[in-house]
Amino acid sequence: MRNKKELRSWLDKMQLEHPLVIAGPCSAETEEQLLTIAHQLKETDATVLRAGIWKPRTRPGNFEGVGAEGLKWMQRAKEETGLLLTTEVANPSHVELAEKHDIDIFWVGARSTVSPFIVQELADALKGTHKPVLIKNPVNPDLSLWLGAVERFYEAGITNLGVIHRGFSTYEKTHYRNNPEWQIPIDLQTQFPDLPLILDPSHIAGRRDIIFDLCQTALDLNYDGLMIETHFDPDNAWSDSKQQITPARLNQITVDLRIPKEEGEAVEFKNRLATLRTKIDVIDHKLIEILGKRMKISDDIGLLKKENNVAILQTKRWNEILGKMISQGEEQQLSEEFILRLYKAIHQESIDHQTKVVNNPKNTPPDSGG
Ligand code: PEP
Ligand code: MN
Repeated sequence: MRNKKELRSWLDKMQLEHPLVIAGPCSAETEEQLLTIAHQLKETDATVLRAGIWKPRTRPGNFEGVGAEGLKWMQRAKEETGLLLTTEVANPSHVELAEKHDIDIFWVGARSTVSPFIVQELADALKGTHKPVLIKNPVNPDLSLWLGAVERFYEAGITNLGVIHRGFSTYEKTHYRNNPEWQIPIDLQTQFPDLPLILDPSHIAGRRDIIFDLCQTALDLNYDGLMIETHFDPDNAWSDSKQQITPARLNQITVDLRIPKEEGEAVEFKNRLATLRTKIDVIDHKLIEILGKRMKISDDIGLLKKENNVAILQTKRWNEILGKMISQGEEQQLSEEFILRLYKAIHQESIDHQTKVVNNPKNTPPDSGG
């Protein structure tokens, strides 16, 4: 991907606003549903209508999409509203049908990006198209797999490309449906600054209340667009009902967002500062999360020590940790003095946690007869 500017030009050629707003239901459900939402979205900042026609469901038995019939409804929505159309394609027959029905932008779903076989099949089917192709991140946090998919399309002569950040699945339940792992799109952006980057906050959040914050973070990180699942009756949507928002809420979000729009030196400075600060915020968030996890393990150790009647402070172990951390710190250009101060604080917190566990009468060892 040498000609990076080329990667961005489709946004200008299609006269798409900054940030590009793609909105619409998770799935096309009925003709009436699709036309109603399209007309409502016409009155928002959205310029592209999204709808899933074939739904990749993790487990069978859920609503799997209305199939090709829904493409006719999309075409009609376009005729009536002028909104551009995008849908997910997952195999060559989807591509053929979507092409036939005047879809303007294709997207590749997260479950397809994980498979180089599927990606190659799609790249072959789309060979030479001038329509943009947006590639969602793979479900697993693997930047090479994501970039590999971009490269396969690029090598098939498809240069109107973009990527969609929709988060990464985790086994443990977290605050998010799919963990954002902001570091991954940030790394991607550093390597390919001109590859349009779009946020899909809906699949990251899995709920409505944090969509705005995710969008703001993305704009502060200079993302080029947002793809937001929108439904006039979210609670009764046939798929992803918890995360969809109404067009009215979408309007409010786009009004409230701070959008770095203007050009100029001062603005450029502010944007760059905001981007760097957001990167720091992302890392700080992770630091606290990781420290919290460390303390939970400490609690478990406290319990184990209590059960085995072992003292909390183990000087030998503590010195071993310090030695290891000082040498790892050196590799990261962190001074010994800093590591000592940092670890003293962590160690103290850890001792406080363990003391609490040991002194809690509820934590009586099961075999103590108490
Ligand atoms: C979707 O956009 O509705 C969808 C299925 O997305 P993903 O591939 O990100 O799960
Ligand atoms: Mn969805």
